[in-house]
Amino acid sequence: SVAAEAPKRLVIDLERLGQVPAEKAGPLARYAAAIQAQRGDYNGRVLSIRQDDLRTLAVIYDEAPSQLAEQLIGWGVLNPEARGAID
Ligand code: C2E
Ligand code: C2E
Ligand code: C2E
Repeated sequence: SVAAEAPKRLVIDLERLGQVPAEKAGPLARYAAAIQAQRGDYNGRVLSIRQDDLRTLAVIYDEAPSQLAEQLIGWGVLNPEARGAID
């Protein structure tokens, strides 16, 4: 089906992000806040981000993109459907 072939979306749960200890969530929280500010998108419970943004975040966290994605899924901050979106 068309839906099965659609690119996997990266969706950050901003509510859960606010519950993760700041020493872990800090860089992602600041990055998400910057994207919200650039878009003027302040009222969402979730934030869809670019694939490129996860790659950038992986550099910041000094991890492979797939490893960071697993960590964020483990925190409940990234949708599990995003697994495999990044190689
Ligand atoms: P930009 O990259 O030059 O994008 C200009 C406008 O094109 C965006 O305005 C948005 O209306 C649209 N646009 C660009 N890429 C996409 C996309 O993948 N999906 C959708 N739905 N629209 C897209 P907007 O949203 O006001 O963003 C203004 C600027 O803020 C962007 O300029 C970009 O520099 C930055 N920005 C916003 N969101 C993101 C993001 O998720 N990641 C990054 N890296 N930058 C972002
Ligand atoms: P979706 O991508 O599955 O998003 C479902 C709902 O999650 C959205 O409902 C919205 O309430 C929330 N959401 C997802 N990403 C963001 C985000 O970055 N910021 C905020 N504030 N909320 C977000 P909504 O807005 O009624 O959109 C329903 C559907 O319409 C979306 O499903 C998507 O398929 C489409 N859509 C909405 N905006 C865009 C867009 O800018 N680009 C594209 N390509 N599709 C869009
Ligand atoms: P989306 O809006 O459904 O866009 C899906 C994909 O289409 C994007 O994946 C990107 O590869 C491509 N795309 C859409 N609009 C543009 C555009 O104006 N310019 C370019 N060069 N490509 C575009 P990507 O980048 O992984 O983004 C995933 C989702 O993140 C987007 O889904 C949208 O919900 C959100 N997003 C990304 N950048 C922006 C932005 O600048 N502004 C807003 N409002 N949302 C963005």
